[in-house]
Amino acid sequence: MDFKSRLIDIAGEKNFRENEPMKKHITFKAGGPAAYLVTPDNTDTLAGVIKVCKESRVRYQIIGNGSNVLFTDDGYDGVVIIIGSKMSAIKVDNNVVNAGAGAKLAALASETATNSLTGLEFASGIPGTVGGAIVMNAGAYGGEIKDVIISAAVYDCENDEILILGNEELELGYRQSVIQKKEYIVLEACFELRHGDRDEINEKMKDLNDRRKSKQPLSYASAGSTFKRPEGYYAGGLIEECGLKGFGVGGAKVSEKHAGFVVNTGGASASDILSVIKHVQNTVYGQKNVMLEPEVRIIK
Ligand SMILES: Cc1cc2nc3c(=O)[nH]c(=O)nc-3n(C[C@H](O)[C@H](O)[C@H](O)COP(=O)(O)OP(=O)(O)OC[C@H]3O[C@@H](n4cnc5c(N)ncnc54)[C@H](O)[C@@H]3O)c2cc1C
Repeated sequence: MDFKSRLIDIAGEKNFRENEPMKKHITFKAGGPAAYLVTPDNTDTLAGVIKVCKESRVRYQIIGNGSNVLFTDDGYDGVVIIIGSKMSAIKVDNNVVNAGAGAKLAALASETATNSLTGLEFASGIPGTVGGAIVMNAGAYGGEIKDVIISAAVYDCENDEILILGNEELELGYRQSVIQKKEYIVLEACFELRHGDRDEINEKMKDLNDRRKSKQPLSYASAGSTFKRPEGYYAGGLIEECGLKGFGVGGAKVSEKHAGFVVNTGGASASDILSVIKHVQNTVYGQKNVMLEPEVRIIK
């Protein structure tokens, strides 16, 4: 069997796409196609896909909701694997919550609020999956994944085994985790929350989401904050001070509403977005002597 037939055999026809535009699957809505796209139903299928890729020496790339990634216009000459809704079960047991890597943070926050559990309010407006949030140690408004996660089950692609990593072993830091350094795929995670008042929890989530709506350019496609926060500064503040608000190339520009966001105003290519990122980095470095590091992960 050839490579493509093996992938279809393992993943199933309905979970397989060829030459799939990645702009359909990422929040920036830009970038080229993936040679193959697979959305596994479960861990066994995922492990099978990885095995076939390794045997055929075809590269692969995991994504979740695609809210912190950008593929170049050339696309991806391997297999993009989406860990999404098919691996998204959420189970609540007293104050401990298990969630599949593909569960959306908004769904997780809502489910925990329904169960009067507090701790994940910060995550309700972050448009990622549990897997992506652990990889990035996503955080907002003073909370981060590190505060609430007990452990994660990961698939170790190098050794073909499932590992359970505790909070410390996940090495969570500012937009960092051990998953970024190893060949691990997050399968599910376990969170410990506290009992609270359901109305207060819902009120807090509403307040944080209202703050988001008033400050962030949510009507445009983006990947959220484009740059990491440099120590001692705010990326948005530096960019604004350099007069870059509204600076654009093609369909991409620095948001006028929040200078920390590069947005796709419609029809931007990945190279438009990357040109804006480069110009912002060069200008801020030239004027402020601070090198901004992209938070969005560029996949080449
Ligand atoms: C409007 C907007 C607002 C945002 N606000 C915030 C915010 O307040 N705080 C914040 O931290 N982020 C924010 N983000 C960024 C983004 O939502 C987070 O980084 C989120 O955690 C990414 O999750 P994802 O599922 O979309 O991951 P993706 O973008 O799909 O992937 C991100 C990285 O994780 C890897 N990955 C994804 N899933 C897995 C998995 N199961 N196993 C192994 N690796 C995996 C990918 O390979 C990639 O390297 C925002 C983005 C947008 C568009």
